[in-house]
Amino acid sequence: MAQPDQHHPKRGTSTQAVHAGELRQKLGDSLIDPIVCSATYTFESTQSVIDFIEEDQPREEYGRYGNPGERIVERKLAALEQAEAGLLFSTGMSAITTLMMAKLSAGDEVIFFDECYHRSREFCRKHLSRFGVKTLEIKMGDYQALAEAITPKTRLLVSESPTNPHLSIVDLEQFVGIGRKHNIETVIDATLATPINLLAIPAGVDYVIHSATKYLGGHNDLLAGALVGSEAQLADVRALRGIMGCIASPHTCFLLQRGLKTLSLRMRQQNQNGQRVAEFLANHPRIEKVYYPGLPSHPYYELAKKTMTGFGGLITFCVKDADWKTTAQVVDAAGIPRIGPSLGGVESLIEQPLVMSYYKCPPEDRQAFGIADNMIRLSCGIEDTEDLIEDLRQALDGVGKE
Ligand SMILES: *Cc1c(COP(=O)(O)O)cnc(C)c1O
Repeated sequence: MAQPDQHHPKRGTSTQAVHAGELRQKLGDSLIDPIVCSATYTFESTQSVIDFIEEDQPREEYGRYGNPGERIVERKLAALEQAEAGLLFSTGMSAITTLMMAKLSAGDEVIFFDECYHRSREFCRKHLSRFGVKTLEIKMGDYQALAEAITPKTRLLVSESPTNPHLSIVDLEQFVGIGRKHNIETVIDATLATPINLLAIPAGVDYVIHSATKYLGGHNDLLAGALVGSEAQLADVRALRGIMGCIASPHTCFLLQRGLKTLSLRMRQQNQNGQRVAEFLANHPRIEKVYYPGLPSHPYYELAKKTMTGFGGLITFCVKDADWKTTAQVVDAAGIPRIGPSLGGVESLIEQPLVMSYYKCPPEDRQAFGIADNMIRLSCGIEDTEDLIEDLRQALDGVGKE
């Protein structure tokens, strides 16, 4: 069997993004991998079915367990993350939920840093609890509290890095150190970082999760999730995925493979847009506060500089002396970014977290999650930096004027 182009750890990320995980010679002598949209896969004879089962042959069987395009993307992602193996899912949330369902049993405990994607929090609070799994939330960055919360029942330590929307950064050395000391596995949702800006597996994290819907796909045209780690640690997750059925479709895998080829290029522009737009906002008189790890004013600036190679396209900022309505005027006045949830794609997106994600959330809870009325989240796409800055300048200058 032909071997995939994979084991070139010295090659740069752009070369890996284009070539890793692919076969050099493909079906029909095509340069590009085809979309194999078969629901099932055939065997030549009864003996070949038996050989497949007895020898655990690496081939397809039925579409819920995998498809050829998915394997390619999994190898490509594993190469980019410097991980042994990868697993793709239908969404980022199914990557998170399937990992938790595979690793946690009734009576187990999982500890989260409290700045996290609101649906991950909801899954733990509302649903894992129904299966007898206890969730503890620790203040982001409080490693002493994290270590003290560990009990003999603790199975997983989970965090995002950077977090959404505050863009706090996990100190992986401390996080992994605590996990290893207590023999507990660690999980980082690195959606906002991508393997271009952060390599968490070489830093010792057990599992890295991505919403591939965001930067990895990069074009706001697919939903997918990814999980990377060691082959042995992913085996039970892979098996559970085959039961839950939350696999990425062949069409999604095709789009994701295509999107990944330009990941490195896109991140370069998005890192630049994020940095320059954050600097512009930080110096603007109508802005009260900017959350961006590439600004010296950010509490995690030093850690980000030490551990990451770029800070991404996501910026959160607060408009000075503005109530939620005035803040909404800024959002509405932006001419380039479209109003919508999500992030990481080539199109810039803007939103007011209060309205988009927390509209029905009681004010006390919003306050506890650090969601201010005057907060705006901007996901810079790959548009020209100067255009984004000029557009925000006119949006901010127009506020409050009739
Ligand atoms: C979007 C997102 C998710 C969920 O991913 P989906 O692909 O929408 O299911 C999880 N974590 C983070 C940090 C996200 O931004």
